[in-house]
Amino acid sequence: MNGDKLPAPPLDSGALARVENALHASEEKYRRVLDTMDDAYYEVDLHGKLVMGNRSFYRMLGYQPEELAGLTNRDLQTPEMSARLFQTFNGVFRTGVRATWDDWEVIHKNGNVLTVEGSVQLMRDAEGREAGFCGILRDVTARRRTEQALRSSEERYRSIIESIRDAYYEVDVAGNMVLCNDAFCRMLGYTRDEVIGRNNRDFQKPEHAAEVFRIFNRVYQSGVPTESFDWKMLRKDGSTVTGEGSVQLVRGLGDEITGFRGILRDVTTRRRVEHALRESEARFRALTKLSSDWYWEQDADFRYTRMEGRDERAAAVQALFLGRRPWETALQLESGDWQAYRALLAARQPFRDVVLHRRLSDGGAYYVSVSGEPVFDGSGNFTGYRGVSREITGQKLAEERIQHLATHDGLTGLPNRMMFSQLLARATAAAQRRGQVFAVLFIDLDRFKAINDTLGHDAGDALLRQVCARFKGALRAGDVIARLGGDEFVVLLQDLQDGAQAQAVADKLLEAASRPAVLLGRECRVTASIGIAMFPEHGGDEQQLMKHADIAMYHAKEEGKNAARFFSQEIVSQSLERLTMENGLRCALERGELRLHYQARCRLADGRVTGVEALLRWTSPELGEVPPTQFIPMAEETGLVIGIGKWVLHTACAQNVAWQRMGLPPVSMAVNLSVRQFGDDRLVDDIAAILRETGMAPELLELEITEGMVVQHPEQALAVLNAIRALGVRLAIDDFGAGYSSLGQLKHFPVDTLKVDQSFIRDIGRSAQDKAIAEAIVAIGRTLNLTVVAEGVETAEQESFLRARGCDEMQGFHFSMPLPADEFAALLRAAAAMDDA
Ligand code: C2E
Ligand code: MG
Ligand code: MG
Repeated sequence: MNGDKLPAPPLDSGALARVENALHASEEKYRRVLDTMDDAYYEVDLHGKLVMGNRSFYRMLGYQPEELAGLTNRDLQTPEMSARLFQTFNGVFRTGVRATWDDWEVIHKNGNVLTVEGSVQLMRDAEGREAGFCGILRDVTARRRTEQALRSSEERYRSIIESIRDAYYEVDVAGNMVLCNDAFCRMLGYTRDEVIGRNNRDFQKPEHAAEVFRIFNRVYQSGVPTESFDWKMLRKDGSTVTGEGSVQLVRGLGDEITGFRGILRDVTTRRRVEHALRESEARFRALTKLSSDWYWEQDADFRYTRMEGRDERAAAVQALFLGRRPWETALQLESGDWQAYRALLAARQPFRDVVLHRRLSDGGAYYVSVSGEPVFDGSGNFTGYRGVSREITGQKLAEERIQHLATHDGLTGLPNRMMFSQLLARATAAAQRRGQVFAVLFIDLDRFKAINDTLGHDAGDALLRQVCARFKGALRAGDVIARLGGDEFVVLLQDLQDGAQAQAVADKLLEAASRPAVLLGRECRVTASIGIAMFPEHGGDEQQLMKHADIAMYHAKEEGKNAARFFSQEIVSQSLERLTMENGLRCALERGELRLHYQARCRLADGRVTGVEALLRWTSPELGEVPPTQFIPMAEETGLVIGIGKWVLHTACAQNVAWQRMGLPPVSMAVNLSVRQFGDDRLVDDIAAILRETGMAPELLELEITEGMVVQHPEQALAVLNAIRALGVRLAIDDFGAGYSSLGQLKHFPVDTLKVDQSFIRDIGRSAQDKAIAEAIVAIGRTLNLTVVAEGVETAEQESFLRARGCDEMQGFHFSMPLPADEFAALLRAAAAMDDA
């Protein structure tokens, strides 16, 4: 209702009635108009008494018009509002200015308080005097309530947004920031004011913008929200931050798309860690691809949780391990001691190169070497083990093979020296603990070298194998036999009662060795010499036992071979003597300790001195006079005999020439040759040279060889003997009958003289048998047209016996001792004088 004045009507009775009618009609019209209004219309007089209200007014308050007659507006409102209302109305009255309010409260008939928006203005009568107030009221209770709910929901919504740790954003369809929370601002380093209204393009690097747009566009097109995408954003300070974000559509009331909203979580650190993790994982994978190692992990219960390797058998291997503990797999610990290994794991100790193995169904073996270390989490709690394992089967087998090669003899397959000393060391320790007795037997084959040299190495090897098999047959399973090299064997006999048992085994071994063997179609025989050392009697440790058994074996050889000897202190002193002798002999020649003695040979028929034998003498400063029967074999063994032999030959020839120059009658000069000299290629050349150098007549030289030399290498010997004979030098067979040769063999050799061994001569006087043998030898020698010489003739009886049997010559103490050169010269001169007389 505006405040315009109504025009004053002209007043006559008819006119008045018309006016009244018109007025009435106008009022009716006015009222109808008012009643069509949705808003409530009211008029009050200056006292506030309700004058009228439209239909909406009564509806709003729940009253019928007549119910409100006489009430003032104060009756319709809460007491708190009355004062405010009065003031408002008063202000309007005073100023004439219309007032409005939006939070007036009125009381519905049913007692409910309604919130009302409304206005009030002054009404004037026709004369322009203040007549009352009018205005409209609108019930906004529902709206206010909705507004209130909206406000509180918005507040709640806002506080939720603010309380979440993730960043929250809303943008409009153009991408301008509409809303964001503190976390969003913090994430980007902007204030809220700097963010709102800005386009999201400003928050990312240009190179990422397209990708972000693509994602938003997809959500826009499809309506399907995106749960998580990595949104690389640009912070205010220029650094980048990665948000794992979600995007969904925001729609308006009309369901139209108004923008996007979503959450962003700062995953920069996580992504960096993930990246590093991925990289290290990739590196690790590349590594396992390259290496043949397996990588494994175990949980705190030592069960395998991971097993990775390049191998094509990965699946099979994993099936073998995963979910099991090491001792629950089919693998065995090489050391055999799971207890110790488990204790190590329980103590969280790292371990290296622990070897596990397993027999495969095909009989082969599978070896794996494992190293591992304990793993602890961030708080130091043990979480398991991890490590690598590597198959080492090839390596192991190679090691085993090498081990076998290193500890066994290739020819016989027996343990070798190295392994034997290990076994012996173990046996010594065990026997020590248990107070047991055991024996070490040193075995050396006799004459093996001869077989090797004669029949060749293949035959020698075959013999060694045969002998080795026989030795094994003679031993019990628990005994150990090893080959030390060459023809040397060693046996360990454990847990014995006494030496007699060792002796019994030694006898069995001697018997086994001497059984005939067939080599290259020929029957050969070897014997063995055995030395025995008993623990603890003959030695407390391995070295001593070996040394003493060796010494005892040498003793057995010296005593004639094919025998077993126990070690004793006596043997030691003997072998010490041997050692002294050997060392002395090495310098005997240079030091001038060697001399020759000469023993005459005379013809039995007329007693004339026909010749002389040069016999070597050695006076050692340490040992005194050493008999040739002792030092010649040693010179032989050591090879010294070659040099010494040459010296003897040279000295003897020179002496012979010297005697003749002295005017003595020429005599033949017999010189002994040793086996070793006989085998020397340069022998013939040396003899020729010596003859030349000394001017000795070859026919006066007679070289004595033993039958053994000839029998061992018949063809070779024959060639040498022929070459010597070709020089004009004569040959004699020395010590005939002591060896194994027969006279039948001898006739093939170009010898001139047969020297009958002293053993036959010695007993001529006593034994009829020896007499017969000596007689037979002399007879056969004569039939073969040889000069027969009897050695060692000591008595006149022997001399006359020999003379009677037709023996040609004799040599022996009976006629003359071996004498120094000057004494022999005197003897020769005297004998010549006698002959002349
Ligand atoms: P052999 O060649 O048979 O020498 C004869 C040995 O008999 C000599 O011993 C000699 O002294 C000894 N003898 C001589 N008459 C008698 C006697 O009536 N009764 C007894 N019981 N013995 C007598 P010897 O000098 O001790 O030599 C021993 C052996 O040493 C020699 O035996 C010979 O085989 C070897 N021998 C000596 N000198 C040399 C040498 O220069 N070179 C080589 N290779 N061997 C030598
Ligand atoms: Mg001789
Ligand atoms: Mg002799």
